[in-house]
Amino acid sequence: MGGKLIVLSGPSGVGKSTVVKGVMARSQTLQFSVSATTRPMRPGEVDGKNYFFVSRDQFRQMIEQQALLEYAQYVGNYYGTPEAPLNEALEAGRDVLLDIEVQGALRVKARRPDAILIFMLAPSFRDIEARLFGRGDTAPELIRERLERARWEYTQAGQYDYLVVNDNVDKAVSEILSIIEAEKCKTSERLHLLKEEL
Ligand code: 5GP
Repeated sequence: MGGKLIVLSGPSGVGKSTVVKGVMARSQTLQFSVSATTRPMRPGEVDGKNYFFVSRDQFRQMIEQQALLEYAQYVGNYYGTPEAPLNEALEAGRDVLLDIEVQGALRVKARRPDAILIFMLAPSFRDIEARLFGRGDTAPELIRERLERARWEYTQAGQYDYLVVNDNVDKAVSEILSIIEAEKCKTSERLHLLKEEL
C-alpha cells in the first residue's frame, strides 16, 4: 500500500512553518517535500532542507524537463514541487507532507485525487497582519501583497478536505496528525483486513 500525500496550505503569516516543524518532530514516518524556489534565502534557512534555492533559469529547466508535480508564482517568485523524490517516498509506503500555496494544492488534487488537502486558518485576519509585520524579514510592500494573497486564499479554502485553526500550535499539530491517522483508518484503506478474515 502506497503512502499518503498530505497537502497543507495556509496564508503567509498564519504560523504554518512552526506547525509544520511540530508535525515533522512528532511523526516518525512523515517525509517533508522540499520545494524548489527562486525566492532569496531568509536568515536561518538551509538550502536543500527548507527549499532548493535555484535561479530562474534552473527553475525554467525543471519545468521543461517536467520534473515538477506542480508549480506556481507567488508574490514575484516561483515555487514548485519536485516529483521524483515524492514518488519514490510514496511508492516506498512513506507519507509525504507538502507545504504549498493554494493554486499548487488544487493542481495536486486535480492530478492526484487521493491527496488530502488541509487548509490552515489564523484565529483572525488581525493575527496574520501582526505576525507578518512582527516577523521583520519581509518588506512592507511585500507584506501588503502577501495580505492580499491571503484574502484570496481564504476564498478558496472551501475546496479543501479539512480546516485547521492555528489558535494554539500544539493543538494544530495534533489535529493534523489526527487527520492523517484517521485517513489511514478509512475502510477503503483497510478492506484487505476484511478479506484476510474471510
Ligand atoms: P515562503 O516564501 O513564505 O516560504 O512561501 C510562500 C508560499 O509559497 C507559501 O504559501 C508556501 O506554502 C508556498 N510554497 C512553498 N513551496 C511551494 C511549492 O512547491 N509549490 C507551491 N505551489 N507553493 C509553494
